[in-house]
Amino acid sequence: MIYNAKMECMSREDMRKLQSERLQKIVKTCYEKVPFYTRKMDELGVKPEDIKSIDDIVKLPFTTKHDLRDEYPYGLQAVPQSEIRRVHASSGTTGKPVVATYTQNDLDHWAEGVARVLAAGGVGKEDVVQVSYGYGLFTGGLGAHDGANKVGAVQLPTSAGNSEKQTMLMQDLGSTVLACTPSYALHLAEVIENSDKVNLKDLKLRVGFFGAEPWTEGMRRELQSKLGIKAYDIYGLTEMSGPGVGGECDCQDGTHLWEDMFFPEIINPETLQPCAPGEFGELVFTSLCKEAMPIIRYRTRDLTRLNYGKCACGRTAVRMDRILGRSDDMLIVRGVNVFPSQIETVLTEFPVFTPQYFITIDRKGNEDSFDLDVELRTEFFSPNPSKQMPYIKPLYDRIVSLCGIKPNIHIKEPGAITRSIGKAKHVEDKRNFRG
Ligand code: ADP
Ligand code: ZN
Repeated sequence: MIYNAKMECMSREDMRKLQSERLQKIVKTCYEKVPFYTRKMDELGVKPEDIKSIDDIVKLPFTTKHDLRDEYPYGLQAVPQSEIRRVHASSGTTGKPVVATYTQNDLDHWAEGVARVLAAGGVGKEDVVQVSYGYGLFTGGLGAHDGANKVGAVQLPTSAGNSEKQTMLMQDLGSTVLACTPSYALHLAEVIENSDKVNLKDLKLRVGFFGAEPWTEGMRRELQSKLGIKAYDIYGLTEMSGPGVGGECDCQDGTHLWEDMFFPEIINPETLQPCAPGEFGELVFTSLCKEAMPIIRYRTRDLTRLNYGKCACGRTAVRMDRILGRSDDMLIVRGVNVFPSQIETVLTEFPVFTPQYFITIDRKGNEDSFDLDVELRTEFFSPNPSKQMPYIKPLYDRIVSLCGIKPNIHIKEPGAITRSIGKAKHVEDKRNFRG
């Protein structure tokens, strides 16, 4: 189902026109109302009149997470406080939170972004959407909630946590849709598996919308089979409003970005120059509709690439590859670059392991060490190390060949690795705390 065919299927030419108009307007507002942008643009010698089309976006300054923190809390706000209806803050995964404010129109646009994603997965009035993203300052819970409201579905605001009760309600109240982080969905699937009260066959669950952290095709397979659903990606970030900046369609072949609201670019994070079409780089967004806190060329640090080819679903909205990770999630171990999501990709190729993992990096002597905790599934687990050996070798070889690092693999009992209810923590880097 296409929620807003006009915007999602607009010809590329019309989309560029719309983006050009909206960019001009947003740049003017920023220059006139937000001293931070007046200063930044003056430094570069750019005036709002210099922006005549979307192509001129490259003349504009970037905005970084640092800038948002420096302007904490309300420095980037372009409207008086009396027009603000809501305040959220980023979950602060990587430091001090960033505050985001919203006018009523901002909340409506945000809900529309989520509604487009839910509708693409066929969600409508007949559905019960269980929102198991955390409610609070984090945008996940209320974002999914408002989107579900917009498509006319029942909202079941369970929030994250209390997993036994969640799964009982899922069964008793007939939830058809689950929205949460992929790692929490995996945990809920395990809780259902181990429950004597909740039965997968008694659930009405049909689809899931998972995001707020990187996840892989392997994880998709796992969630789809464990929960008996179709699992869709939903992407977003607090700086652009929250979840619903884009989402997958039925083709599950890339995440459509709602370009009428968020203009995407891919840049080389070293040179800050635009990447060639289809090339991997850092995703940068300019908000084209936000009123309370318009943001120009926000460097997300998320690494991905864009595909402007038309999708089989009929949407023309650009598609983004799965996010490999944020540039600051990248681990450099003995000079080799690794993303945790690469470990997940490898691990989920092996049916004997659960997708749970935890990486500990340390420095022993002059050498970095890379320890990887994994879990064998119950049917394969034995506490006897000699029985574990046959499983370790193939996993080790695959990680060496795909990621170029030599992990020390430790097999843990099923359930031993800590489960998360929100964004999963997969890494501890102890090197930062040593000399
Ligand atoms: P924080 O920066 O504190 O984590 P947010 O909750 O705003 O705050 O997180 C947004 C970030 O979450 C994105 O920039 C991206 O790194 C990650 N993210 C969100 N959705 C997805 C997704 N579907 N796939 C991969 N990463 C995602
Ligand atoms: Zn599509």
